[in-house]
Amino acid sequence: MTFALAPSVTCPPDVRRLPGRAPQADAGPPEVDLPRIEAAVREILAAVGEDPDREGLLDTPARVARAYRDLFAGLREDPGVHLARQFEHETGGDDAVVLRNIEFSSTCEHHLLPFLGRAHVAYLPADGRVTGLSKLARTVDVFARRPQLQERLTSQIADALMGHLGARGAAVVVEGEHLCMRSRGARKRDAMMVTTALRGVYRDDKALRKEILGLLRGK
Ligand code: ZN
Repeated sequence: MTFALAPSVTCPPDVRRLPGRAPQADAGPPEVDLPRIEAAVREILAAVGEDPDREGLLDTPARVARAYRDLFAGLREDPGVHLARQFEHETGGDDAVVLRNIEFSSTCEHHLLPFLGRAHVAYLPADGRVTGLSKLARTVDVFARRPQLQERLTSQIADALMGHLGARGAAVVVEGEHLCMRSRGARKRDAMMVTTALRGVYRDDKALRKEILGLLRGK
């Protein structure tokens, strides 16, 4: 089955479990330090040769600080909270759940410039355990609202579906347009990056993989 839905995004359980890292379940990342961002933005403006005190720029540091707080809100969110909302599918749920065209907006961690696009997400439930479609979108959102790489975003979504839903398989395709490519550097206007993550049966079973990738690509 295929659904189209409005967007949403999510956090890395895999990263949190790396040995040597303090567990972050209770602590979590610190709150955003808005005055510190403001001071840094003033510095950037001065460093590029602007006058941070000219009228048009006076409120810019505070605006940028609030924008960063929103863009990186996913650092303080756990996708597990959304994916914990599960219910049992009446028919047993042996069919794949597919959600296409989840719009996302993320920030490339190499340039702190946006990359935008759509995520297409599928999973094969175990024992009929499914979650709401909006929770899938929320999961994408939690991971997108962080300093991010498209490859990692794709993997984190797939790993969250496997880890939190105990899915038998997960497949994620992300299509992203990177402003760091579009507006500087190579200036490739229409370049679209496509990344794929396959887990469980979708990694191991060639026929299932082909079928799910066809659904995710809308074929
Ligand atoms: Zn970049």
